[in-house]
Amino acid sequence: MKEKREDNCVFCRIVRGELPATVVFEDEATLAFMDIGSVNPGHMLVAAKPHVANLQGMEAELAGAMFRSAARAAKAIEAVFRPAGISVYQANGAAAGQTVFHAHIHVLPRWEKDGLTFTWPVKNPPRDELEKVAAQLRTAL
Ligand code: 5GP
Ligand code: ZN
Repeated sequence: MKEKREDNCVFCRIVRGELPATVVFEDEATLAFMDIGSVNPGHMLVAAKPHVANLQGMEAELAGAMFRSAARAAKAIEAVFRPAGISVYQANGAAAGQTVFHAHIHVLPRWEKDGLTFTWPVKNPPRDELEKVAAQLRTAL
């Protein structure tokens, strides 16, 4: 895995141990630590160790390692909190809600009426529209 770093990136600085963080676990490619803005107790972030801004910038190997760690985090949350649910949230770009531009996955316990909302403005496009879009996407794989 290529080692990339950015001097002033807050998560690169956490990975390097230059800034404090409450680390839960790590492996070669990822670091899991508590989110300082925790929405619910147990809210963890899984960050890539190399600097990569977003999901679309990840090599397949790193993307796999990220989700493996997210599953590991979810299992620990399940065992400790027995929550009503677990959400996984991953934002790429400011328009998508990303505020730290070093790729990370949120894994957090959920409870009924815990105040976390996400509006999903469903458009229900016709099948032929979905086929057209899928064909476009296949050209880029
Ligand atoms: P995003 O909106 O980019 O998906 O989320 C960034 C998350 O990083 C936020 O939930 C925020 O609370 C968390 N965060 C920002 N700075 C720090 C930090 O220095 N340490 C930790 N542990 N979390 C941080
Ligand atoms: Zn970084």
